Amino acid sequence: MSTDSLNGTATLPFEGLSADYDPQWLLSPAQQQLQAQLIELCAQVLRPNAIASDRNLIYPRANFEALASLGLLGLIVPSEWGGLGENHVCAAMVVETIARHGCPSTAMCYTMHLGAVAAALFRAHDNPELQTLLKRLDADVAIGTLSYSDPETGSHFWYPVSSQAKQTDQGWQVFKRASWTTSAGFADWYIVQTTSPHFDGDYSDLSCFLIYGDEVKAEPHKWDALGLRGNQSGTLQVDGVTIPTCRMVGPEGDGTASNDEIVDPFFLLCSSSCWNGIALGAIDIAKKHVTRKKHVDVGMRVADYPTIQDYFGEAIIDTNACRMYSFSMGQLMDQVTDNCDWSLHGDIAALPRSAHLHWYWQIKFAAAKNVAQVCDKMLHACGGSGFKKDMEIERYLRDGKAGWVMGPTNEILRQFVGKSALLGFEVLDYWNQSVNERVLHNELKKLDPADKRQLAERLLAELEAAEAPVSRPLAVGAA
Ligand SMILES: Cc1cc2nc3c(=O)[nH]c(=O)nc-3n(C[C@H](O)[C@H](O)[C@H](O)COP(=O)(O)OP(=O)(O)OC[C@H]3O[C@@H](n4cnc5c(N)ncnc54)[C@H](O)[C@@H]3O)c2cc1C
Repeated sequence: MSTDSLNGTATLPFEGLSADYDPQWLLSPAQQQLQAQLIELCAQVLRPNAIASDRNLIYPRANFEALASLGLLGLIVPSEWGGLGENHVCAAMVVETIARHGCPSTAMCYTMHLGAVAAALFRAHDNPELQTLLKRLDADVAIGTLSYSDPETGSHFWYPVSSQAKQTDQGWQVFKRASWTTSAGFADWYIVQTTSPHFDGDYSDLSCFLIYGDEVKAEPHKWDALGLRGNQSGTLQVDGVTIPTCRMVGPEGDGTASNDEIVDPFFLLCSSSCWNGIALGAIDIAKKHVTRKKHVDVGMRVADYPTIQDYFGEAIIDTNACRMYSFSMGQLMDQVTDNCDWSLHGDIAALPRSAHLHWYWQIKFAAAKNVAQVCDKMLHACGGSGFKKDMEIERYLRDGKAGWVMGPTNEILRQFVGKSALLGFEVLDYWNQSVNERVLHNELKKLDPADKRQLAERLLAELEAAEAPVSRPLAVGAA
């Protein structure tokens, strides 16, 4: 038994995968110390709460309160603003540790919190409203999240057709309809993305806004899902709320830069770490089981069978490949930002993370693919016992399933990588703006002359209607 330093109670020794298989050399001494404190906190607080969260769909606010006690809500906030001033590698480690030892739902809510914090830090240098918020994250347990996904465009979360913003005398009027938002209705603040106030039909013209918890409408009672059940990723509505000018995050039209430089890199790094943590959590649980369970007839433990050893060997090798891949991207982000120095964004054109977007896509694909495979194999290794709820491995398996379907989904990511590798980045066409002449001509070839004429006449009519001068609206009541 070891003694819990938090409240003096005794905790059982850890029986999962030993630290021999952790890449500790990636962490500074201070980060290793933070990790040790966090593991203890997970055992004492986060993990017991995870079970209740999963069973009863409870939002893990209590776990956030525990994380705030270690200053983790302000993990990447500069120390002069009261944060821990930590870097990208540390962010990856913290998310992985929470998912592995504590609660995967909390790890995902925390991933979204860090994404929102990063989006705020990106444009906080000349914005006192954002600075005030960032300075009180831990003291007030002020949970943030990202609200992007649109009901009309599914996992193309960068395409908010149902949302808009207008300029008013008081500032901005924001309309947002989101189909999914982690922590919806529970977060204290939201970074939401809409088309820009002076939008003219170009969907790449996006802007971000800071919206507070009392300004949104959410429907948490509708949330019920296979896994990450504490995550509460429900619908969200901002219904024409008027906010002051200072609550636009960055300049008007900054949404694309914010996505490429911050939201995508942070989400892809931290969510990959969440999937890696879940895979490790499943390995930990399974190791504990197979090293204890005995078969009296043959005098062996389950762990003594070479088949089971092979399961573990492959799961550890694949998971550590994904971890090293993710941590390597964290290191790259540290390298290009002078160890996560936010002051470099005082230059609004500084976008050092963006150049590597196609690498972040790859880590998420690999980690989300791996977690499903590893959880499945670890359940097999535990036999029927793994199928039962009390072992917790089935929860990890369900939680890990979210990896593949969370946007950018793995279908989209492998498309992006394969397509850009073969045809170039310019063909990705996020906002459906460029014409695929090859497809167009191929389809036209199939039309007979009469069909071609009909199509040409229809197109001409559409063109004439579009080019006609806008007529004055008819008076009310006119026929
Ligand atoms: C647990 C969880 C938490 C989430 N939290 C948030 C959050 O905090 N904030 C937020 O903004 N969103 C969040 N989301 C939403 C997420 O990012 C996606 O938008 C959502 O999962 C898409 O679901 P959908 O049913 O609309 O899928 P659809 O987009 O309808 O996808 C259906 C299928 O079509 C495939 N597909 C779609 N487009 C393409 C394409 N171009 N090429 C090939 N295949 C394609 C998909 O991969 C999938 O297989 C969350 C989702 C989950 C599951």
